[in-house]
Amino acid sequence: MTLRFANVAGRSALVDADGTRYLDLETASNGAFSPEPMDAFARWDALRTFHAGLAPSAFDTAPTIDAGLLGAPSPMPYQVFGIGLNYRTHAEESGMPIPTSPLTFTKFTSSIASPNADITLGSPTVDWEVELVVVISSGGRDISVDRAWDHVAGVAVGQDVSDRTLQFATQPPQFNLGKSRRGYSPFGPWLVDAASLADRDRLHMSMTLNGENVQDTLTDDLIFDVPTIVSYLSTIVELLPGDVIYSGTPGGVGMSFKPPRFLKQGDVIVSTIDGVGTTTNRCV
Ligand code: ZN
Repeated sequence: MTLRFANVAGRSALVDADGTRYLDLETASNGAFSPEPMDAFARWDALRTFHAGLAPSAFDTAPTIDAGLLGAPSPMPYQVFGIGLNYRTHAEESGMPIPTSPLTFTKFTSSIASPNADITLGSPTVDWEVELVVVISSGGRDISVDRAWDHVAGVAVGQDVSDRTLQFATQPPQFNLGKSRRGYSPFGPWLVDAASLADRDRLHMSMTLNGENVQDTLTDDLIFDVPTIVSYLSTIVELLPGDVIYSGTPGGVGMSFKPPRFLKQGDVIVSTIDGVGTTTNRCV
């Protein structure tokens, strides 16, 4: 059984294979694990061992998940990184050259939101970006590409919500604030253990806007793949347990439409990575 780690009403939880039932981690472990989601990442290997020892029937009488009670799996990380122009399709539609090293920006931690949170539109030019999100477990510096996945707890699907006016308000542009308004970093619905995802370098990711498919890719189309990003960042900064990396968005963002399309009140965006999960965000 694959380890799925969730934040249910602010408490660490384990989710069953269908994504329908959950175990409260502190209760199920008789207090061996803290209820605080941010405590789980430094003990990820111990969590894997605990999860592997659960009886298959452990979830049979567990409570069902209320999607509205899910929080971000890593709700208060030290660092949140975003990688820009990391799919050829998106670099081309943006009219930008293909980066020769990962184009990295910050999404500030206070922008993190629950996986199914409403998105409050901060301007008329708010855009969508579906992304594979990875969360760091043991962290460190100078992590090799070969060992990089060993430092990842799990993956989720997220939206790098982007205020294009704010993003390009200055010369040269700076992305940090335009991608950090309140609620602009929803991800979830839970983390799927990176060690048990057979196709972790080739996941199918897609997004619909009011039912219309607008973004669709395989993650093996990333210019800099997850191991390369993790390794690269760790040569510059120390990665810490629970750190979040938004790995980039494929083609099909609203800015690329002619004329451009931006999110409007009442729009519903549904983001999916097959085998990982789905999140739904309504624009208000
Ligand atoms: Zn992005």
